[in-house]
Amino acid sequence: MQLDPWGRTNISDYSKLFDEFGISRFDEILDSIQNPHPYMRRGIIFGHRGYESIVDAINTNKPFSVMSGFMPSGMVHLGGKMVMDEIIWHQQQNADTFVGIADMEAHAVRGMSWDLCRDIGINEYIVSLIALGFEPGGHIYFQSDSTTVQKLAFELGIKANLSEMSAIYGFSGETNVSHLQSAVTQSADIMQPQLEEFGGPKPTVIPVGADQDPHIRLTRGLADKMNMFLVEQRDGHVSVRTKTAVADVLKMVAKKTGGKLYKEHVDIKDGDIEHIRSVVSDIELKSGGYAFMPPASTYHRFMSGLTGGKMSSSIPDSLIALTEKPKSAAKKIMRGKTGGRQTLEEQKELGGEPENCTIYELMLFHLVEDDKHLAEIHSECIEGERMCGTCKKEAAELMHTFLAEHQEKRELAKEQLDEYGLCEYIKYLK
Ligand code: SF4
Repeated sequence: MQLDPWGRTNISDYSKLFDEFGISRFDEILDSIQNPHPYMRRGIIFGHRGYESIVDAINTNKPFSVMSGFMPSGMVHLGGKMVMDEIIWHQQQNADTFVGIADMEAHAVRGMSWDLCRDIGINEYIVSLIALGFEPGGHIYFQSDSTTVQKLAFELGIKANLSEMSAIYGFSGETNVSHLQSAVTQSADIMQPQLEEFGGPKPTVIPVGADQDPHIRLTRGLADKMNMFLVEQRDGHVSVRTKTAVADVLKMVAKKTGGKLYKEHVDIKDGDIEHIRSVVSDIELKSGGYAFMPPASTYHRFMSGLTGGKMSSSIPDSLIALTEKPKSAAKKIMRGKTGGRQTLEEQKELGGEPENCTIYELMLFHLVEDDKHLAEIHSECIEGERMCGTCKKEAAELMHTFLAEHQEKRELAKEQLDEYGLCEYIKYLK
């Protein structure tokens, strides 16, 4: 399976991602999270890479970051809301929070004009993000305005080669160079929270949809390649190797860890690997390196389109935008594909199929906060005690209320851009 972050992937079996790409199962760490987000509790976030470091940071009050980005290519819909909800949840757990508007990507990959990227980035994404509860103090930026991100992308690009990028993304000889550059720029977005100006190396999580894993794989590899040292544990020994073969720096590692110095590595008997990592990281930072930690990630499942199949902007009835009129969204729900039977009699006798129902999915992902009520809906459906008409009506009313409230909050958010350090973008507001 090839995952394509630019939209041509259809994942029919998420469990394949565990075996084929080495993504870990989220349910295995769920119990270590004190107040998990509903997406976590409900199995919507199904996978992760390295999220243990984030759980540890949350549970022990250590610094950590959350970072995700949005390509401003169209109206923000419920899929984009999922990433926003996840960013905001991590911010509430005290993460230093970064949100990048990937306008360089939209320009290179979708051919969107810079002005349109600004317009959509502000009026769709940033305003809705604030309306959903993003707090001031986080960092919201456009890639094209961030010299920090662009400089870091250039540095990372030195370590990224064409064959590796082709293997990860499926790039061919036809792929334009700016498209390649936009992928490396995404890696810079992901690593930016660990730069010295933002407090240095720390666990950083990237909440994304499953199709974005190529960016995470590329960036984890680049983070590793950028670092001066490789720290490994073997048979009770900890070995520290330099990748840059700087003899003086290796001498310093031997001195600080009490290890034995060899030509290309230091060997520390009975060493505590975490302590040695932190000593080595200090030495690397003082020597002008980055000492990046590999970024962690979480992966969520995608919602189906309301018409069945994929959500697609080319099928307006398949999705609900956050800026859509509440009445129109409610009507789409009333037309949505259900897991109900052909006749009322059959429904009563056989029960419905909530697992194949876009209305149930909407309630599971977005509309019903109370787990108990959701479980009631599920059991009433499969027992044949709930009819699709009633169910759709409930979902339509909940959606109407959510959108009406969200859109009121959006109007307030427009007046608050200065509190988020976004004064220069006020002129783009509509
Ligand atoms: Fe879906 Fe509700 Fe019908 Fe069950 S009763 S199939 S959950 S719409």
